[in-house]
Amino acid sequence: MISVAEAIQIVRQQTAVLPAERVELPRALGRVLAQNVVADSDLPPFNRSQMDGYAVRADDVKYAPVRLRIAGESAAGRGWHNQLEEGQAVRIMTGAPVPEGADSVQQVELTHELKDGTVVELLESVETGKHIVARGAEIKAGEIVANTGTTISAATMAVLAAFGYATVEVFRRPRVGVLATGTELVDVDQKPGQDQIRDSNNYSIGAYAELSGATVERLPLTGDETSLLQRQIAEAAERCDVIVTSGGVSMGVYDLTKSTLKELEAEIFFERIAIRPGKPTVFARLPNGTFVFGLPGNPVSVSVTFNLFARTALLAMQGAAEPALKQETAVLARGVKGTADRESYLPAQLTTNDDAQLIAFPLKWGGSSDFVAFAVATGLVIVPAGVKSIEAGSLVNVLRLPQ
Ligand code: AMP
Ligand code: MG
Repeated sequence: MISVAEAIQIVRQQTAVLPAERVELPRALGRVLAQNVVADSDLPPFNRSQMDGYAVRADDVKYAPVRLRIAGESAAGRGWHNQLEEGQAVRIMTGAPVPEGADSVQQVELTHELKDGTVVELLESVETGKHIVARGAEIKAGEIVANTGTTISAATMAVLAAFGYATVEVFRRPRVGVLATGTELVDVDQKPGQDQIRDSNNYSIGAYAELSGATVERLPLTGDETSLLQRQIAEAAERCDVIVTSGGVSMGVYDLTKSTLKELEAEIFFERIAIRPGKPTVFARLPNGTFVFGLPGNPVSVSVTFNLFARTALLAMQGAAEPALKQETAVLARGVKGTADRESYLPAQLTTNDDAQLIAFPLKWGGSSDFVAFAVATGLVIVPAGVKSIEAGSLVNVLRLPQ
């Protein structure tokens, strides 16, 4: 049995970044940059006014109130491209270029234009440089403004657009096939008959895989039949980078996933992790390079093990700088129990109190099959192996569950 940390390390070692592809900017949200983004111009590209007001020479208004002659107007997109002389002011708008010769902008609220619009009275003096963002003050042409490995957020979209990236290089999304084993399973649109239940794992796994940036294909239910399972996995492997199965990895007579993987000559990296829930989690690679995560069947084990191991693989394959979920520290709101030989990952609701502390409320739940209770969890409380119990008020490590 290996530890959770070792299992995550193996996943990271075995997975490599997928090839890059070029996508149109509007399709880039959530993708991981496969190139550095370089500024093709200074930002701002000219000395830019931050205010509506008057561009002036600070020296001219030192002894305000003072009257200056309005020499012209500089608007955003339509600047006034002459030399501002002593005694002159230029009416200027936010985002407009500051004329040569002007060294400050007085905001319109502190001015008063005289009737015919040819003279302005500056009511107060203004410091040199006031309300001007100098050319290149934010970014200089040639600077890297976003690095390879950055996940493109809505805010990153503005950076890409501003520097002319109509298309951008991103790492390819992994293609994930999800496959649920179990003779008891019927599809979501079926009424379960005697001894049957609806498959829910394919939907949670598919959703978590999409949250991890993958494209998802739901494969037909295979029951617990080796030949069908073998055929489905082999066929899906031709199209998929990763196959995520659920069920059939325990010690029961009908737990056939591992034997099927062995028949397909998969290399098995691990098959038992010191974790609760999710001990029999399998990670393997088929001869063609497709990875397989064989998750246990219990729906809660599925959510925990997917997010610890499969998600890490999917993010690493997209070149994410930090693929594994990050641990944070929270105050435990209710005592929890651990297990002698396994690290526990217990569902909890995470909130922040008035003192800005992260608080973890462990859920009352019925174990790893209780997916209805688990549905309100927003995080997992980690209890180290060998720790019998942790009292309320203690600091614990937690993970936020992707939602
Ligand atoms: P297994 O790991 O195959 O022994 O399954 C463990 C438990 O999870 C059993 O109670 C199964 O019925 C249940 N289970 C397995 N697969 C699914 C699934 N796709 N959706 C919902 N429950 C499942
Ligand atoms: Mg089963």
